[in-house]
Amino acid sequence: MIKNNHVEKTNFRLLIENDSVGRMEERLNIIDTFLNTEEHVTLENMMQLLKEAGYDYEPDFVRQCLNRFGEHGFAQKKTFDGQSPRYEHRHLGKHHDHFICTKCDKIIEFDNDEMERLQLKIASDLGFHMLQHKMEIYGLCSDCMAQRRPLMPLSMAKSGEVVVMRDMTGGRNVRTRLASMGLRSGDSLEIINNNGQGRLIVGHGSTRLALGRGIAQKIMVSLAKPD
Ligand SMILES: [Zn+2]
Ligand SMILES: [Zn+2]
Ligand SMILES: [Zn+2]
Repeated sequence: MIKNNHVEKTNFRLLIENDSVGRMEERLNIIDTFLNTEEHVTLENMMQLLKEAGYDYEPDFVRQCLNRFGEHGFAQKKTFDGQSPRYEHRHLGKHHDHFICTKCDKIIEFDNDEMERLQLKIASDLGFHMLQHKMEIYGLCSDCMAQRRPLMPLSMAKSGEVVVMRDMTGGRNVRTRLASMGLRSGDSLEIINNNGQGRLIVGHGSTRLALGRGIAQKIMVSLAKPD
């Protein structure tokens, strides 16, 4: 994204100088920090970014500033379903829409000229004069989808596949044995050799491990994301 913070900061100073609001330098520090991110930040995110930049202001003051940035056209306040309000940088003359992951709250921006044109056309076909719109599409991001991949026992994985350990059945004994080999839920395993009987040879980090078929049946895995 184009970094024109300086221009925007000057613009903001000019706009609020006449409003005779106090704490001008602090407000400018807050807008600077805000303009430095292109994320959709909550008040908590902003407090964190300010802290990282070495500033310590009261949340109420920061919230008030963010709302003022909104009134002056530097920020846009968005409240996605089920989330705390977020603020994002408002780029004049540019429009985008959002995908919102309902599982991890991730927000993905998109813009599509064809869809924008289609919306205008549908409106005009109905004799409607469109002024503005927001499109919010709710669903699951690719990371959250990957976690929903079906589970299977490790013993079913095919040679060459990369799988992620998700769960272990068989209680503490199994867990302890796996832990002693350094295997934990969330670890990736590369199936080096599984011929359907006997032991499996798997790659774990830079080590090759031999796992008995019995224990391999108790480790539940899902296929890793292909990339
Ligand atoms: Zn749009
Ligand atoms: Zn997600
Ligand atoms: Zn956005």
